[in-house]
Amino acid sequence: MEESDTSGKVEQIFQGIGISPGFAIAPAYLFSRTKPLSLRKHLNPEEIPTEQTRLDEALERAKYELKKVASVAEEKIGSESAHIFEAQVQILEDPVFINAVNAFILNEACNAEYAVQVTLEHHISQMEASGNAYLRERAQEFQDVKDRVLRSLQQKRLISKIQQHRVVVAQNLSAADLVLFSKRQVLGCVMDIGGTTSHASIMARALGVPALISVGWQAERVIEEDDWVIVDGFSGILVINPSSETMREYRVKQAQYSKLLEQQSELKDLPAETLDGHRVHLRANIEFSAELPQLVEYRAEGIGLLRTEMTYLAQGRALTEEEQLTFYKEVLEATAPFVATFRLIDLGGDKVLPLGKHEPNPFLGWRGVRILLDRQSLLRSQIRAILRASVYGPTRLMIPMVTNIGEVRAIKRMIARTKIELAVEGKAFDSKMQVGIMVEVPSVALMADLFAEEVDFFSIGTNDLTQYVLAVDRGNDLVANRFDEMHPAVLQLIAHTIQAAHRKGIFVGMCGEFAANPLATPFLLGMGLDAFSVSPVFIPQIKRIIRSLTYQEAKEITERVLIQQDARSVRKVVSEWFGQNQDILASLMKI
Ligand code: PEP
Ligand code: MG
Repeated sequence: MEESDTSGKVEQIFQGIGISPGFAIAPAYLFSRTKPLSLRKHLNPEEIPTEQTRLDEALERAKYELKKVASVAEEKIGSESAHIFEAQVQILEDPVFINAVNAFILNEACNAEYAVQVTLEHHISQMEASGNAYLRERAQEFQDVKDRVLRSLQQKRLISKIQQHRVVVAQNLSAADLVLFSKRQVLGCVMDIGGTTSHASIMARALGVPALISVGWQAERVIEEDDWVIVDGFSGILVINPSSETMREYRVKQAQYSKLLEQQSELKDLPAETLDGHRVHLRANIEFSAELPQLVEYRAEGIGLLRTEMTYLAQGRALTEEEQLTFYKEVLEATAPFVATFRLIDLGGDKVLPLGKHEPNPFLGWRGVRILLDRQSLLRSQIRAILRASVYGPTRLMIPMVTNIGEVRAIKRMIARTKIELAVEGKAFDSKMQVGIMVEVPSVALMADLFAEEVDFFSIGTNDLTQYVLAVDRGNDLVANRFDEMHPAVLQLIAHTIQAAHRKGIFVGMCGEFAANPLATPFLLGMGLDAFSVSPVFIPQIKRIIRSLTYQEAKEITERVLIQQDARSVRKVVSEWFGQNQDILASLMKI
């Protein structure tokens, strides 16, 4: 199909949520899985053993297919991501599941398809009804497993007729779909449902495929096969049948983005310092060891946030002390000579295991340090692993979701006890390992002076801080436009926290998503932030802004920003500066 051939169709523009950066311009491929049939068939008693053998064979075939997907994933993105598929293999190997299906075939004298359908559907509907975002996302994995087994029973394969270089449009994609599509060089993805924290979103970012979620309107219904579409993975905009003018505009943006990436690579070896020599640190937020090579690629000066709970969630269980030690050692060796910040497991909110307790308000519930203090064995084994790993490179331990000073003191007591334990056992550790906290609950930001006396560093978590200051759920698309870190109340708390940290002589960084927002860079810098910790791909962009103004200029912007009455006027102040610096403005895709 020719690019200019939009068959006289009218251009339509939709707003979604960008989940993976970049621009894709290509014809659409509508992907829908034909649902495998699972009608009930009555069996005679003598047919039952044969049916159970059929089930065994189908499970084996499904496992074989999944292991193949896992190995492609591993080759492309690393072993941590492959765990997602291993989790599906584990479902297939789970004796509780296998026994339940076999018992159903026997008791109901029915076919294997029906037994699989009923057994798994029951489980899936419980997960979907849980009202918990993480459980709902995991329900999709069970759904994928169910469809795979049904297809396998019917000896059908998921036929992907996709041509190369397309934008895939689907109601929902599994992480496995994305991995297989990447072999067809898919250029972009549009999904109707999902969340920015879903496995499919994580996979799209890891594979570098621009993607968005349609949110509230169904892309699958409005897009026709082969319609030209534009996916703007930054702003979440989707253009269907773009006019030639829009097409040109986006081609320019695409070219600018490639140029920006090229220019950014020229900045790689230059320090993050202002024109008058004020130096800050640009660090990385990472989750899995597969992301470690990006530290060198983007010249991150260490890890400002390692979300250790992600490994826990990917594996579906807590790692043993030895497993943690192996992982942390690998991280420290890849990060040295820079520091790596291990955040203690931050479960709760939207990060819970399928067996977790249902809470009416999970973000105001059993989260972060609260869970750790109630589950001392989990806490103890992680502190032991981090301390033992600390001999392999500069290590910092960070406490999540702190609200009260007592929580910090309790964790510090546990660290002190663990050090004695390790010394008695003759195990080495860095006795001066730094301990810090996430500042992400308003009570801590307000009392930052007190907290600064207890710890070695702060890291401001704007994702949670903003949701708690503004009473806006960070994961609810109905109020997504009200989640705004530029609100002066959020900015004043950030400034207050930075000042308090510096009054007490401690280091203060930011690891919330706001640190990666280029519009905020001038005034965060002017507030005196010591480190910006962001997904590695955003490092060059932030560095470029830091290198284009003086510290004095940044402080002046900050002064003006902090007296504004609302987010709109804050943006106006910042836009004025960017307006006077058109070259930078042109290079920023997020504006
Ligand atoms: C934050 O809340 O800003 C943060 C960085 O932590 P998380 O996004 O993991 O809750
Ligand atoms: Mg947080």
